[in-house]
Amino acid sequence: MDSRRDFLQKLTLSAMGLPLISLSGSPDMAAFYREPYEGPVLRVAIMGLGSYGTRVAEAMQDSQKAKLVGVISGTPSKIKDWQSKYNIPAKNCYNYENFDQIKDNPDIDAVYVITPNGLHHDQVIRVAKAGKHAICEKPMAVNAKEGQEMVDACKKANVKLLVGYRMHFEPKTLEIIRMREAGEFGKIMFFQGLTGFKIGDPNQWRLNKELAGGGAMMDIGIYSVNGARYMVGEEPVWVTAQETKTDPDKFKAGVDETIQFQLGFPSGAVASCLSTYSMGNLDRFFLNGQQGYAELHPATGYGPIKGRTHKGELNQPHQTHQTVQMDEMAGIILESKKPVVPVDGEEGLKDLKIIDAIYLAANTGEKVSLKL
Ligand code: NAD
Repeated sequence: MDSRRDFLQKLTLSAMGLPLISLSGSPDMAAFYREPYEGPVLRVAIMGLGSYGTRVAEAMQDSQKAKLVGVISGTPSKIKDWQSKYNIPAKNCYNYENFDQIKDNPDIDAVYVITPNGLHHDQVIRVAKAGKHAICEKPMAVNAKEGQEMVDACKKANVKLLVGYRMHFEPKTLEIIRMREAGEFGKIMFFQGLTGFKIGDPNQWRLNKELAGGGAMMDIGIYSVNGARYMVGEEPVWVTAQETKTDPDKFKAGVDETIQFQLGFPSGAVASCLSTYSMGNLDRFFLNGQQGYAELHPATGYGPIKGRTHKGELNQPHQTHQTVQMDEMAGIILESKKPVVPVDGEEGLKDLKIIDAIYLAANTGEKVSLKL
């Protein structure tokens, strides 16, 4: 582990009277006003240098507690670009065939798996067997059976498994959770989660059952599944679901286009959610209690998240989600910190159990019971 010097570099820039713009080009100004950090740093290798991997790498430049030190990719030209952009030594670069050798690399603490969903299971298990902590993008796997195997493998290898649930660290989301826990909404009665977008290119992996594990539900509906749980603050005990498909050529068998689903909670609260690849302008959460309400719109995008409660606008400042996530995850891995909402493998597994139940309910028309 080493310590970050970036803050000092930024401090020097500001002392020189240069404008306080982010070195990574991000508009996240909060990073500039932090105290110098000299504590332990999580040294991370990113596996999968695609669009989200790129976003995480950029954001990690402003992290104090996490540092990008390695890459795993099947594309040599990308490795070269990332090496020069992020100053990554050749000894920390791997491909999908040889990355098990990372076990002999003492300069990497964790691997962040940011590949298509259908690859997460095998890749995380290989990371665990190499003795490295695993951070895995959502959905953690394509079904609960795979998820359970990943949790077991990480436990057996004595490494941590975290899931890239960036909203669990988002300030407006956390304020709503604080208010709910303080009883400010009264008894929670209802949650609505609407998450979806219009998907483009029909040939992308997100529309390939093998690589995606499903369709919109795996990719974007999971935000409503997960959001229902952290907004209501309970685990669902039953699921009902209805699937509709307007374009069976684009959304082949096993690739869901649109699913509406309902979750029932032990208190009697219910959630009503929509997951789709066929509609825009859908990123809304609404929580209603007997004494108040909260709404977020957008609720899960990269931000700024906007929202209000019965008490007025939520004004918590925006920070780049992935920067905060990586700092918090470093704290969880290196210092056993406990987040307000868990981001561990068990948390990812609960969402997969619910998604399995949603697919079952949609396919059978039955109400499916759940015990999480
Ligand atoms: P992407 O297609 O942009 O990148 C995927 C990367 O995986 C590419 O670099 C690709 O080369 C690599 N790859 C390795 N093996 C592959 C294979 N067999 N087929 C296809 N690609 C392969 O996708 P993305 O948008 O970066 O998504 C990657 C993961 O990140 C997904 O699990 C997705 O759900 C997740 N994600 C999370 C968020 C979030 O906000 N947390 C946002 C976007 C994506």
